[in-house]
Amino acid sequence: MTKPMDFDVLVIGAGPGGYHAAIRAAQLGLKVACVERDSLGGVCLNVGCIPTKAMLHAGEQIAAARHAADFGLTFGEQKLDIAKLNGWKDGIVKKLTGGVGALFKANKVTHLIGEASFVDPHTVKVGDKTYTAANFIIATGSEPAKLPGLDVDQDVIVDSTGALVMPDPVPARMLCVGGGVIGFEFSHVYNNMGSEVKVIEFLPNIIPGADADAVKEFAKIMKKQGIKIATETKANKAEKKGDGVHVELENVKTGEKTTEVFDRVLVAVGRRPRTDGLNVQAAGVHVTERGFIPADTRQHSNVPHIYSVGDVAGNPMLAHKAMKEGLVAAEVIAGKPSEQDAVAIPGVVYTSPELAWVGLTEAEAKEKGYEVKTGIFPLSASGRAMTLQATDGFVKMVVEKDTDLLLGVHIVGPHASDLLGEAGLALEMAATASDIALTIHAHPTLGEAVLEAAEAVHKQAIHIMNK
Ligand SMILES: Cc1cc2nc3c(=O)[nH]c(=O)nc-3n(C[C@H](O)[C@H](O)[C@H](O)COP(=O)(O)OP(=O)(O)OC[C@H]3O[C@@H](n4cnc5c(N)ncnc54)[C@H](O)[C@@H]3O)c2cc1C
Repeated sequence: MTKPMDFDVLVIGAGPGGYHAAIRAAQLGLKVACVERDSLGGVCLNVGCIPTKAMLHAGEQIAAARHAADFGLTFGEQKLDIAKLNGWKDGIVKKLTGGVGALFKANKVTHLIGEASFVDPHTVKVGDKTYTAANFIIATGSEPAKLPGLDVDQDVIVDSTGALVMPDPVPARMLCVGGGVIGFEFSHVYNNMGSEVKVIEFLPNIIPGADADAVKEFAKIMKKQGIKIATETKANKAEKKGDGVHVELENVKTGEKTTEVFDRVLVAVGRRPRTDGLNVQAAGVHVTERGFIPADTRQHSNVPHIYSVGDVAGNPMLAHKAMKEGLVAAEVIAGKPSEQDAVAIPGVVYTSPELAWVGLTEAEAKEKGYEVKTGIFPLSASGRAMTLQATDGFVKMVVEKDTDLLLGVHIVGPHASDLLGEAGLALEMAATASDIALTIHAHPTLGEAVLEAAEAVHKQAIHIMNK
């Protein structure tokens, strides 16, 4: 008789992908273990989504206190206790990561501490112990990409993890290398806390993947808030000197080089999948040249009993995508007919205002051969936005011309990420712009801007001139 396996499922990594997979597999009656070499919750809870949102909130309150003067409320001189700020953020992280541990216990998921590495297709080693399992879910995530010439010391030259610890005093001059989502979130934090911030981006446009009109509006607002943006610019090297970090910048179009001095430099040029130490070769798992472990729509790697989910499985590297993939992998292992078939995965930049989108951009829709109509409703015409002192931005809807079928929604505005829930559901339900326009939205709310953008598609918005 062969020895029974230790577990039905062994999950490697306890980030959003891994912990969702482990808990769902346990809910479905499987015997589950989850190996984590670091703190539970992965990048998202420890050094990603959650702590950045805490810092963003704090920065927004600082800015909001300044803007309160518009309606007659003034305070004394602003004082920021940086140790308290960092501690407050760490407290939220601790509470949430502790919560994952409690959920593991409640669901009887065995939490193994250490680094997992494959010994053979059904065995992994963790420390000096080995464990066998019928199925494995690889959820090892990603880490910041490096930039030659800019050596991260997590003090003055930082990656996103280093940038989460606000130094005392707040740096006077901050350079952000990379104009993507993470770069802009940090730029917004530092700008609100008093740094003079410059963002450089190698490509002609910031926030790759977002709709061109939305990016234009977003860039305009960020500049109005004081953030300097230089596109088609790269950083060649950084040298630490007595008066700060001297960074050589190059205009990639003209080749012109300049040196500027900063107190803190953030390198936010993307992320790469993480499989170091995992020894997947021993299990016969295929890794692409860029380091991903690709999966099919049911999350199988090339080895059928080994699944791959989250950042390590491929782009987009987003927590909600990792969570969904984790659930699919667990359900497939439990024999359910689950499959990855999302119409759209939302994307959000959590600045103030937020930039958020779901579905196709206008350019993507045209590339796919759709004849499109668009409708834009500016927040300057929204009563609710005025009461919130937040009239910058708009809602843009992209619709197929003949069928009125919704293809994409792009929002620059406060709470755009929350407004996106309606848009995502509408896309999944194959709603038309008329369906949205016919739905009674509460007044006064920001959600009405979504309704009026749908009306604008038909040139029938009430609160703007329809051109
Ligand atoms: C600054 C920042 C802000 C972000 N903000 C957002 C946001 O607002 N919204 C959003 O959707 N996404 C955001 N993201 C992205 C999000 O964090 C990731 O998409 C998400 O964490 C991916 O989840 P995952 O489970 O695939 O991997 P991860 O969260 O990377 O977790 C993988 C885990 O596996 C562990 N591990 C790796 N190898 C081994 C091994 N061999 N043995 C044991 N354990 C191992 C690691 O220690 C890690 O804990 C942000 C990322 C960053 C960096």
